[in-house]
Amino acid sequence: MSTEETYDVAIIGGGAAGLSAAVALARSLRQVLVIDDGQPRNAVSHAAHNVLGREGVDPQELLATGRGEAERFGAQFRNDRAVAARRTEIGFEVDLAGGQSVAARRVLLATGLSDQLPDLPGVRKFWGTTVLHCPYCHGWEVKGQRIGILASGPMSIHQALLFRQLSDDVTLFAHDMPDPGEQAWAELDALGITVVTGEVARLEGDDAVRSVVLASGEDFAADAVVVAPRFIAHTQLYEQLGGTVEQHPQGAFIPTQERGQTEIPGVWAAGNSSDLMAMVSMAASAGVLAGVAINVDLATEEARVAVERKATAVS
Ligand SMILES: Cc1cc2nc3c(=O)[nH]c(=O)nc-3n(C[C@H](O)[C@H](O)[C@H](O)COP(=O)(O)OP(=O)(O)OC[C@H]3O[C@@H](n4cnc5c(N)ncnc54)[C@H](O)[C@@H]3O)c2cc1C
Repeated sequence: MSTEETYDVAIIGGGAAGLSAAVALARSLRQVLVIDDGQPRNAVSHAAHNVLGREGVDPQELLATGRGEAERFGAQFRNDRAVAARRTEIGFEVDLAGGQSVAARRVLLATGLSDQLPDLPGVRKFWGTTVLHCPYCHGWEVKGQRIGILASGPMSIHQALLFRQLSDDVTLFAHDMPDPGEQAWAELDALGITVVTGEVARLEGDDAVRSVVLASGEDFAADAVVVAPRFIAHTQLYEQLGGTVEQHPQGAFIPTQERGQTEIPGVWAAGNSSDLMAMVSMAASAGVLAGVAINVDLATEEARVAVERKATAVS
């Protein structure tokens, strides 16, 4: 593996979080390299909602625009996968799948997460179009429609209540959900949410979900089905660097302080890698915060070194 110049910051992941950090750092004249293998979480989706000023923007277009903005201020990009990271004397070395290594004084892990979907036929086929998870991302688009909730745990009850806000026709398919307790059953009943017991076998439809089919063969019409994925944050590099992930009922993530600083000095995290619930704007905001904090950290180090150098020169 060959190592080239040393960057101030290696940003791993070029989604909303990584690109926002890249802009903040590049505008502070930092040498920034963004390493990205082009698999943002919402790639299956046609529109990103709740993005102020860009409501409903095509997610790929948003990232292409963000990349252009970061490049305009001097950020560099590598379309590659970071496969390993280690600490060195000057900071960190990151190995790329393409065979090169990159040296950087600081690392920002903006690696996002993968959604682990219920393992049922039809779920993946319609994921991001009529199989949904987030009422804020795509709820308005299915308002007033027949919405099925494929239940798997407490999050499914939460989803049922939120989607009920958007439609009078919500059915909760209890499937393999553990008993949520008396209060939850009472809420579902009082809100007029139909509960169907029995194992779900598959989702059916051509271009869109059309029905939920039970193992018993019974079938229920639906225009959209809500699932509760398990969130698998991309934490491998963090763990390689010696970090410990934090467990959450919906998945593990990189724990950080307010501005993205992790327990490993010199390593920051932002976006879905450290916040499983972050939507695009939140990931972008966390990226800017981390970028600013990294710049402050570098400037503080540079000031300390300058003082030491001056003292040495004088003595
Ligand atoms: C179906 C769906 C629809 C959604 N709709 C909306 C919506 O309408 N509005 C909204 O606000 N939010 C929406 N979201 C959430 C949104 O996708 C996330 O908030 C956002 O993607 C988080 O940004 P991020 O930068 O943390 O991660 P990502 O966007 O996932 O970016 C991470 C990047 O890092 C790269 N990467 C990871 N590991 C490596 C590695 N080792 N080396 C190199 N590159 C790596 C990935 O390829 C990816 O490009 C949706 C999510 C889903 C699943």
